[in-house]
Amino acid sequence: MTIEVRDLSFSYGKKAALNQLNFDLTPGAFNALLGPNGAGKSTLFALLTRLYSLQQGEITISGDSIRRHPANVMRKLGVVFQQSTLDLDLTVGQNLQYHAALHGISAAAARPRIAAELERLHMAERINDKVRALNGGHRRRVEIARALLHRPQILLLDEPTVGLDPQARSELNQHIRKLCQTDGLTVLWATHLIEEVEPHDPVIILHRGDILARGSAEDICSQTQKTLLSDAFQLLTLNGEKAGEANTSGGDR
Ligand code: ADP
Repeated sequence: MTIEVRDLSFSYGKKAALNQLNFDLTPGAFNALLGPNGAGKSTLFALLTRLYSLQQGEITISGDSIRRHPANVMRKLGVVFQQSTLDLDLTVGQNLQYHAALHGISAAAARPRIAAELERLHMAERINDKVRALNGGHRRRVEIARALLHRPQILLLDEPTVGLDPQARSELNQHIRKLCQTDGLTVLWATHLIEEVEPHDPVIILHRGDILARGSAEDICSQTQKTLLSDAFQLLTLNGEKAGEANTSGGDR
């Protein structure tokens, strides 16, 4: 179960945000999309989730084109956006029931699924609490439970740990990694935080709309002859900036 992106470009007016991206996610793995602010991560998410229509290129999700089979595609995807989209004045359970209903899951079928997802996030006892009463980390857990209710094959998370303390960040990251193992879930985790990436993770490094490197974090380190991914990342983005400046001074604007 994977996502294939081919020749994907996107511009806001004249401003290019993504330039001819090509990549496949590794199925059943925690795929990291690493890039600084402004790299294009959210734009890519908006295209993957059909918030934006494709301008150029193609996205295929487990064999279905996002253009030709949008409904099939949406069934296969779970999404956690950067900004929380929970209703603060509904309880945890009501938020989840509502999402299940949107996906056509009956209340009777939803109840055990909700209980099971909350249980594995250690949130079962909060089911009747209003979301407003939860801290940021617990709200994120509810969003993850919600994203999994319709049993998607692929889970997309856009900077899911922003605003969380280090312990909550690490717990969330480890929980998602576990889902790859237990459920065979394919994950795309967007982040600007290098410490959220582990050596064996498949990584896509995005910078100013260009993919600068792909491969496991270890491979990217050895290709750039660096021990730390942070040093490899710094080198790649510096080179990316120099290349960008050379293109801009090329006089084709
Ligand atoms: P990231 O999520 O990696 O921080 P974004 O996808 O938000 O990156 O942004 C990519 C580029 O597109 C940036 O240069 C940003 O300024 C620009 N951009 C993002 N959203 C808009 C918008 N609505 N209008 C114009 N430019 C935008």
